[in-house]
Amino acid sequence: MSKKEKLRILLLRPKYSSIVANLEPLGLEYLAGLAKELNLPCAIHDEFQYSWILRYERLCRAIRIGRFNFIGFNANANTVDYINETAARLKKDFPKLFVMVGGPDAEVNYADYCTDAVDLVYHDNGLMSLKNIWSRGLTEEVFAAQSGICYKSGGRWVVKEKGAPVCGFINKPDRTAFYKGLKKNFIFMKGKYALSKASFSCPYSCAFCYCTKMNSGEYTERNLMEVVDEVEEIRHDKIWFVDDTFFFDKERVRAFCNEILKRGIKKTFMAYARADFIAANPDILPLAYKAGFRDILVGLEAISDELLDDYNKQTSRDENIRAIRNLQDNNLVCNGLFVIDYKATREDFRKLLDFIHEYNLLWVIFGIFTPYKGTDAYEQYKDQMKGFRSELLDGTHITLKPTNMSSFEFMMRYYMLHVLTYPKIMVRTLFGTGYDTKKTGWI
Ligand code: SF4
Repeated sequence: MSKKEKLRILLLRPKYSSIVANLEPLGLEYLAGLAKELNLPCAIHDEFQYSWILRYERLCRAIRIGRFNFIGFNANANTVDYINETAARLKKDFPKLFVMVGGPDAEVNYADYCTDAVDLVYHDNGLMSLKNIWSRGLTEEVFAAQSGICYKSGGRWVVKEKGAPVCGFINKPDRTAFYKGLKKNFIFMKGKYALSKASFSCPYSCAFCYCTKMNSGEYTERNLMEVVDEVEEIRHDKIWFVDDTFFFDKERVRAFCNEILKRGIKKTFMAYARADFIAANPDILPLAYKAGFRDILVGLEAISDELLDDYNKQTSRDENIRAIRNLQDNNLVCNGLFVIDYKATREDFRKLLDFIHEYNLLWVIFGIFTPYKGTDAYEQYKDQMKGFRSELLDGTHITLKPTNMSSFEFMMRYYMLHVLTYPKIMVRTLFGTGYDTKKTGWI
């Protein structure tokens, strides 16, 4: 594109296989909000709204119809190959198109996107550098003055260091894509949720997690009143706080709940919490329920102290059990997230199911241990991880060869976990008792 041409921005969220959720593209909505503020034409091409068929052709059509000259990819660990391959195809079909890659995976693994077809990789904390680039122009001079980007100069990639961690957003998200895509928005058996983010990164350092690497590894919190304002403004009654751990500072949770009650906001909330927090702070849970919290997602991860230590989870089996009980006692649904280790034995699979039944966990989510690039675990396992297509890096595929059974048997047992737990979720939801935390039976 020429220097004088006005930017016309298309933001792309690449689709990947998911049968459990279709969510709002919140990250891109922040970029769309920024473009709106700068008065730049901008649209979100959310591939989750479309079928897999004619995927590339549909994208090309969108670029042609909207006369877009700038495309921004939102990168996740499982879309690296798709993004680099699509960027290469687009550069051939639209030689003047400016290609930027940003998003969670670019923030941690920016070098993976420094290819011939990409013009800029955005890995900064916050959107200030992007605001400068969009408002001042796509020139080397402007790029050189920014933090947290990679750009080309004289045929070579220049890597600019990240700026300081951020503790807020510089603009509001433009939620047009959410309201437009509401028909297809869902979380398995839970309904449609708007997303909100009230903090950045995570103060813990579990070995398999790269959320903790975000924001230069520094946990920060947004202004609480701003968060409540946002909750009030969203034209939807179910909100999922996608913070890595919303329940971290008890006084902040208390202040949030009190403000929600004071303003008479009637919405239901879902949020992540750690087992140790819920185990140690049952007194905050009645207030959380009163304010509208119903779903708490707890990374229980494992049922043995040994494995929890392996993951550097800094929690224990006992805390997991107390967290489940505290939530159930307060009518809050404990959505137990488990990580299936590649070293799992047949007995481990059996014991996990026993644990789920014994502690009356209805809502469960199973992932397979995956050493994502950028995590502490990756350093340990990277030699065993070579040659994988990025599509497999989604926590539902084997990336490390199971040591106690064949890969086939491991996957069968992994699927069986779902077969033996998910029908009950469906039946209970059908009978309207999915959120009755005291019930133990099927209806
Ligand atoms: S798994 Fe959860 S608690 Fe652990 S580092 Fe990641 S976000 Fe934090």
